[in-house]
Amino acid sequence: MSFFREQFTARSAAVRVRFGAGVRKCLAEELETLGARRALILTTPQQADLADAFAEYCGARAAGAYTNATMHTPVDVSDEAASRAAELGADMLVSVGGGSTIGLGKAIALRTGLPQVVVPTTYAGSEATPILGQTENGMKTTQTNAKVQPGTILYDAELVTTLPVEMTVTSALNAMAHAAEGLYARDRSPLSSLMAVEGLRAFRDSLPNVLAAPTDVASRGETLYGAWLCGTVLGQVGMALHHKLCHTLGGSFNLPHAETHAIILPHALAYNAAAVPELLAPAAELFGDDNPGRGLYRFAREIGAPLALRDLGMSEADLDKAAELAVANAYWNPRPIERDAIRALLQAAWSGDMPAF
Ligand code: NAD
Repeated sequence: MSFFREQFTARSAAVRVRFGAGVRKCLAEELETLGARRALILTTPQQADLADAFAEYCGARAAGAYTNATMHTPVDVSDEAASRAAELGADMLVSVGGGSTIGLGKAIALRTGLPQVVVPTTYAGSEATPILGQTENGMKTTQTNAKVQPGTILYDAELVTTLPVEMTVTSALNAMAHAAEGLYARDRSPLSSLMAVEGLRAFRDSLPNVLAAPTDVASRGETLYGAWLCGTVLGQVGMALHHKLCHTLGGSFNLPHAETHAIILPHALAYNAAAVPELLAPAAELFGDDNPGRGLYRFAREIGAPLALRDLGMSEADLDKAAELAVANAYWNPRPIERDAIRALLQAAWSGDMPAF
């Protein structure tokens, strides 16, 4: 398998990554290297206890904490947190958590220009991208802006040992979706493809071990390594059908982010494999089926992932509307977006059936 292309444009962000169990305890050292004296620590209310621990790791460089990071990055929360950063005279943001907390750090960076050290505790991958999604009056908008790309990432496997098993599974599939769609992205480069395949492999090999022993730091480390690779792919290339469908389902039917990704991914891959089997061949090989969607469906079932949109509370009567919405806004996809085929895809995803394409 070669990822050579006769022409490509590759872009990489200047990001410093430190990886290792316990590496969070080197935070003061990182702040010193960056010349930061007043770090504002960000968490969700659910992870507020980590703010105290991180204040200790910062030592004299801790300025305070804001522990109200909220799902979907509402702008009023970001405005309040940016004011808190100004009041405290913060010169660095330290985001500790999943995509919601990292989103808050990015939103503050957008408003203030403050640099960020990010310590991810899920596999969602936001730490590795210049992408920010924000919500205002129930509307979500997404932008790509180099200003929000975190400059330093500390990956500490000990922090993901607390991730509940259900979230471990859905968060991992959310990450794998970035890599899988990266394989057929129009703007892929040999590097993004290499990272995508290795990211998928890392999750394939380590997830069953993590589920057998959720506090095993070595296996957790390999999943976090996969998250870094998959997130970096998301930061480098454009996404297609899978991400658009999840965005539509999440936005219009209020379905949960990671679970929706987990359910849709095998179906979106099966749909696109019909058009670009050669680009998805590495995924097919990794998951042991000629069709990567079916291979991934079996993998998802084995690791106990949610398989059916109906189990998330979606009504079957909404499938027609979802299909209309999915085809309404034109976007690039390796296979044309055909209304009836998308409706059939959604039906299978709603029922939890094996992908049919
Ligand atoms: P999340 O950050 O919303 O976390 C969900 C809950 O789990 C929170 O209560 C959190 O405190 C808790 N949690 C997180 N890590 C934990 C741990 N190790 N142990 C125990 N509890 C933990 O979930 P997420 O899936 O990481 O992020 C989802 C959000 O991120 C969505 O809004 C999505 O749009 C966004 N996202 C953005 C990008 C990007 O590039 N901009 C990429 C991926 C996801």
